[in-house]
Amino acid sequence: MPTPSIDLAIVGSIGIDTIETPTEKHEEILGGSVSYACAAASFFTHTGMVGVVGTDFPQAFRDTWNNMNIDLEGLQTVDGKTFRWGGVYHENMDNRDTLFTDLGVFETFSPELPEDYKEAPYLFLGNIHPALQLHVLEQVRDPKFILIDTMDLWINIHKENLTKVIGKCHMLTLNESEAQLFTGEHTLNQAAKKLLQLGPEYVLIKKGGNGSMLFTKDDIFLLHAYPLDTFKDPTGAGDTFAGGLMGALAASGKTDKEAIRQAMVHGSVVASFGVEEFSLDRLVQIDRDEIEIRISEFKEMSRI
Ligand code: AMP
Repeated sequence: MPTPSIDLAIVGSIGIDTIETPTEKHEEILGGSVSYACAAASFFTHTGMVGVVGTDFPQAFRDTWNNMNIDLEGLQTVDGKTFRWGGVYHENMDNRDTLFTDLGVFETFSPELPEDYKEAPYLFLGNIHPALQLHVLEQVRDPKFILIDTMDLWINIHKENLTKVIGKCHMLTLNESEAQLFTGEHTLNQAAKKLLQLGPEYVLIKKGGNGSMLFTKDDIFLLHAYPLDTFKDPTGAGDTFAGGLMGALAASGKTDKEAIRQAMVHGSVVASFGVEEFSLDRLVQIDRDEIEIRISEFKEMSRI
C-alpha cells in the first residue's frame, strides 16, 4: 500500500469565471469549487486536487495553486476548453443569476484518483454529478472521514443517485434552500432530521452571511458568520468554508464532534477572508497567523 502523500483529497469543478457585482466586473478569473476548497484547506494541511482543465488553462492559475502548496497530481489536462461560468449578483448581493455555463472538458470529466490519493484519510466530494462522486468512492480505501457537498441541480434531476452517495458519507453539507428542496420540509430542524436518516452522522446547513448549523441526531451547534464591514464577491464562499473545515479537521487528525466544531470555526474564518476579494485574490495574501488572529477575535465575540 502506498503511503498517502496528502492528508486530504478534494474533488470538484475548476472554472474560469466572469463575475459581475453591482460595482465591479471581473472576466476570466480563477474559480470552481475545488479551487476555492483546496486553497482554503491548504492553510492547515497537505491537500490534493482532483479536477479537470483544458489545454487553454493559464499557467498563472496553476502557479497560484503551486504557490499555495496544493498537490496537483490528480489534476487532469485534457484537449479542449476549460469549464467557464458567468454570474451576476443582484443589488443586495444575496441572489445571483447564472449568465452562462460552458461545460467544455468538464462535460466528459471522470475523476481518477492517483494511487496514493486513494489512501488519503480525509476526502471532500465537492459539488459535481452524483455519479462521479460515487465513482470516486469506488476508488478510495476506507477514508476516516468523507464530506459531501451538492447543489439544487442534482437534487432536482438525480436525487436517487445523490441519496445513495450521501448514505456512504460521514457528513453532508448543503445550503438552507437546498435542504428544504431535498426534504420538502420548511424548518431546518425537520429538514436536518430527514437528511440524517439518509446515513450521515453530521448534517451541516450553510446560511450564507448568517452562518451555519451543525446537526447530529443528539444536538445542534450554531455558528455565526464573522461580521465583515464590506465584502466584494461571495462566489465560492461555501466551498471555501467547507475546504477550510476539512483542512483543519485533517490537521487535527480527529473526526469527533468537538473537532468538527473547531474546524467549522476555522472554515468560517477562512471564508470571511475569501469574500473580501474576487477569486483567490485575498486568500493568496494572507497567512496562518492572520487566520489565527481572526479566529481569536471571532471566539471572543461568540462567548456567551
Ligand atoms: P458557489 O458560489 O458555491 O456556487 O461556487 C461557485 C463556483 O462554482 C464558481 O467558481 C463556478 O466556476 C463553479 N460552478 C458554477 N456552476 C457550476 C456547476 N454547474 N457545476 C460545478 N461548478 C459550477
